[in-house]
Amino acid sequence: MIKLNMAYQRLDPAYLFSDIAQRLRQYEHYHPEVKVIKMGIGDVTEPLPDACIQALHKAVDEMASKETFKGYGPEQGYNFLREAIAENDYKRRGADISPDDIFVSDGTKCDIANFQELFSHDIIVAVMDPVYPVYVDTNVMAGRTGVSFNKRFHEITYLECTPENNYKPDLPKSPVDLIYLCYPNNPTGQTITKKELEKWVQYALENKALILYDAAYEAFIQDPELPRSIYEIPEATKVAVEFRSFSKSAGFTGLRCAYTVVPENCLVYTLYEGRYLLRGFWNRRQTTKFNGVSYPVQCAAHAVYSKEGQKQVKGLIDYYLKNAAVVRKAFTSLGYQCTGGDNSPYIWINVNNDSWTFFDALLKTTGVVCTPGIGFGTCGDTFIRISAFNDYNAVVEAIDRIKNSHDKILKEIELDLKYRH
Ligand code: PLP
Repeated sequence: MIKLNMAYQRLDPAYLFSDIAQRLRQYEHYHPEVKVIKMGIGDVTEPLPDACIQALHKAVDEMASKETFKGYGPEQGYNFLREAIAENDYKRRGADISPDDIFVSDGTKCDIANFQELFSHDIIVAVMDPVYPVYVDTNVMAGRTGVSFNKRFHEITYLECTPENNYKPDLPKSPVDLIYLCYPNNPTGQTITKKELEKWVQYALENKALILYDAAYEAFIQDPELPRSIYEIPEATKVAVEFRSFSKSAGFTGLRCAYTVVPENCLVYTLYEGRYLLRGFWNRRQTTKFNGVSYPVQCAAHAVYSKEGQKQVKGLIDYYLKNAAVVRKAFTSLGYQCTGGDNSPYIWINVNNDSWTFFDALLKTTGVVCTPGIGFGTCGDTFIRISAFNDYNAVVEAIDRIKNSHDKILKEIELDLKYRH
């Protein structure tokens, strides 16, 4: 008899975005005349940088000729790309990362989902709340979290991000072993200073813990004082693995390319004080379960580091940040407390009401879709996330609709609450 991994039954069955899609389908059914504007999902809208397109075409042509054709590549990625990453993303910023520390992949989502399998079942995992759901769900699938009650798993340590701590969690009160940090943060848009990040590195050093640092949105950091990599903090290479992606920086969400950094001196332990270098285990995992990213895609990623590529990527980031500024300014002027949108593509808005109620009221009165904060965790209960990944004109139109209908939105919420009680 084929038996289910029972951990899968512990997952929250209503995945946030399918729930949103269902409400949207219903709305569109009754309002076919409204042009819906989606400001929920964090998917890019602008085409790939021209430098990447040129590199893709060239690489595809190479695949058409016997002399230049490529079969399987190295599981860790081609050296030309690993060298460019180490040089441009790390050495230039004073971080001591070598090409051998870099593992090219087809996405940060799968890397971060897979990484936890290197660790024992009985480790204590800490995640921020609100959180990118992948960190939690993959630990649930691995059977590491116990059961959930009121959207919280018993054996996970939740690091609360609230207006009181400016969405930057305190260090855990009880010891933890694996810490997921994400900066700039999805969903709050919050960033972290070097000094604040130093505290986490120090904690990990003192507790023999490991930080999984998700820097998928680092390209949006504008403030030169903010760290773009955890390796800008001294000794972080011993206690941190970093994940980066070309998805949001260069618009690769549909092309798929990312990388994970496992520094040579990063350590993992066994029960009786055995100390091992973590990198070899990730290498073993990847060479067994992964066959590398396609050659044309790696060529496209490499083109990101060319002079034109850098300029074009900057153009994309500026474009989305301009959208973010429009959104943040509008919601602030309507009296909402907002974070993010300055060094991040997400704006986290305190709507002081149940987030699904606000979602429904916004959709009903304006045809604009946001993401309800509760989907990211209990601490997201009264927040919504607006994504700046959108066409500029669509953003302007959405904001006009919201400003013009703000009273109606509030009225709708009031009615909803009255009807419910
Ligand atoms: N990490 C965070 C915090 C994200 O928000 C996302 C995508 O939305 C990812 C990782 C996934 O990136 P990728 O497209 O490289 O899988």
